[in-house]
Parts: sequence; C-alpha cells; structure tokens
Amino acid sequence: MTGGPTTPGAGHTAAGKAAAHTEAHTGGDADGDIRFHAALKAFEGRPAATAGRGKDPVNEVMIRHWCEAMGDANPAYTGPDAIAPPTMLQAWTMGGLSGHTGRSGAYDELLALLDGAGCTSVVATDCEQEYLRPLRPGDTITFDAVIESVSARKTTKLGTGHFVTTRMDVHADGRLAGTHRFRILKYAPAGTRATPRPASVPQRPRPVINRDNQGFWDGVREHRLLIQRCTACATLRFPWLPGCNACASPAWDTVEASGAGTVFSYVVMHHPPFPAFDPPYAVAVVELAEGVRLVTNITGVPYDKVRIGLPVQLEFLRVDDTLELPVFRGEAG
Ligand code: ZN
Repeated sequence: MTGGPTTPGAGHTAAGKAAAHTEAHTGGDADGDIRFHAALKAFEGRPAATAGRGKDPVNEVMIRHWCEAMGDANPAYTGPDAIAPPTMLQAWTMGGLSGHTGRSGAYDELLALLDGAGCTSVVATDCEQEYLRPLRPGDTITFDAVIESVSARKTTKLGTGHFVTTRMDVHADGRLAGTHRFRILKYAPAGTRATPRPASVPQRPRPVINRDNQGFWDGVREHRLLIQRCTACATLRFPWLPGCNACASPAWDTVEASGAGTVFSYVVMHHPPFPAFDPPYAVAVVELAEGVRLVTNITGVPYDKVRIGLPVQLEFLRVDDTLELPVFRGEAG
C-alpha cells in the first residue's frame, strides 16, 4: 500500500518503536538550536492534508480482502448489517499507487526543513487510533490531517532527530468517525552528523556464560576451541548443550578443534549500525574440519572478498581487556 500524506515510505529503514531520551546539548550553536526548534514548532497546528476524499466508499470487497489478509473471521464484518473492521480506518483514506491530490504543502515543507538539517532518514514509530462510530458499506469518507506536534531534538539508537505526530480526523458522510495519530522519527543516522559522541567507547556485547557453556569459554581463555562430544554415541555438537541431540545422553567430553575450516555461509552487515561494530563487516557460519559449524567473524580478508567455501583458520581476537573471541582468518587473494 502506498501511504497517504501521513505515511511517508521513502527511506523507511526499520520498524518498531524507537526509544528516545532528550539529548543534552553539550556543544554546538545553542542559539541556532533554539531558532531551529522554534521553526519546527511553528508547524504545529498547520494542515498536513485538507479536504481529502477516500477513493472508494466503504465497501464489502475491501472489507473481505482485509479480513482475509488479517485472518479475522468476526461475523460482524459480513452479512447485511456488516460494519468495517475499526482498524481499517486508515485504509479508507489511502491514496493507493496513484496517490492523492490536495496534499498540503506544510507537511512537505516540514520534512524538507528536517532534511536540510541532516535528518534525511525516516522511520514510522507508532500509531494510535480512536473509533467514534462504526463505518458501514456505502459510507463516503473524507478526512483532514493536521501536524499535531514536533518534538524537541531526541537521540535514539537509530540517530538524532525529531518526532513528528500528525492527527487525521476521518469523517463518514460528514460526521467524525475516528481519529488516526501517526508518528514518525525524522533523523540523522547515527554517525552521519556532528553530534557529540559519548566519551566511553561502546563495548561489544559480552557472551552469556552459564554452566552449560562454561567449558567452552574456559577453552577460549586457553586459546583452545573445544567441541563437545557425546561419550555414548560419539556425536560432536556445537554450540554447547547439556545433552546429545542424537541419543539424549547427558554424558560428554571434549575434543579440541584443529582450527581448520571453510566458510559455509555468510552475510555482510551494513545496517543497522550497532555500537562497537564498524559496518560493513562479514558474519560467517564456519564449518570446522570436524564437521560442526559456528557463527563467527572473518578476519584477514575484506568483507567483500568473503565467499562460500573460503578456507579459514582459527585465531583468537583480543577485543578488549576482558573479552577474547574465536574468529577465523581467511586467506587473501
Ligand atoms: Zn549421543
């Protein structure tokens, strides 16, 4: 579906709520920030869409398709007294592939202002709907949307930017039937703007060590990659588990991997950026000569030279004072 005026799709990079906190302004042009925020606030209350008209009246065909897609067999949505599923509210306002005319300039102006400030990415964060009365086949839909609020500058895991909330009032045959609030975050992706960086360097995540895998991490500390072996049926297993998948025996010992392996599969991480990681980088499933596989990083070759079947050799990467990890070095060339 192509969104209406309040559902920009371009540059959509991630779903879900973006947790935010107010950023402490520790540097830069404070007066400029205040002026910019005032310019953003001036958009509050301005129309995002005026006198919009639904392209189709509320109708049984769209209701049936919706219910099939949602797997919703509620009998209220079929038959002579059918109502539309309340959560279809926005569907009646959408412009489809051909879009709507009559979109207000204010919303585009606001997005352009944010683009100009480096907030070129957008992610939909959440929506809230309120239903005042049911919609029924035959109802004619009109709607207006207003820019309800523009937040102060916030820092999220995705980057720094501003939350923009629009409220759409949906009318059926001239009477208010529901409201649809839609929130986006327009942001500068982390690392692309001269925001003050935290003083501490983010750490790579720590492994979760428990009594089932303690022996593996003890081995890593001694620069040995230990594979579990079932002492009942001799099946090797990795990662470490309390029992054998082949025969269910809880008895095991270990064999030390020779360190030789090949890349069984891999991905190259570009996005999203995680603290302590520097994309792009390759994450690989390496098949050891012993036959088991593990997820690891490939070193020694550029990320774009990693290939399935690439011979690799175990080495230990000192990440920081308290973390060492088994990784695999590929042979360049
Ligand atoms: Zn076994």
